[in-house]
Amino acid sequence: MECSEEGCESEATFQLYIPWAENRRVCAGHARVYGQKDGIVADPLASADEELPDGASN
Ligand SMILES: [Zn+2]
Repeated sequence: MECSEEGCESEATFQLYIPWAENRRVCAGHARVYGQKDGIVADPLASADEELPDGASN
C-alpha cells in the first residue's frame, strides 16, 4: 500500500491517528512530519514490525 499523501509513492509503513480527521497510512518520512504535530500519533503498521506477545518471558 502506498503513502496516502498526494504525490508520494513511498510504501506506507505507519498508521496515523488524527483526532480531528480520518486515520491515514503514510510512509516513514511523512509519519515523522505528522508525528511532531500536537495530538497526532504515528503507529508502525503490524506488517512493518511484529510485536512479541505479552508474558512471553513467563
Ligand atoms: Zn509519504
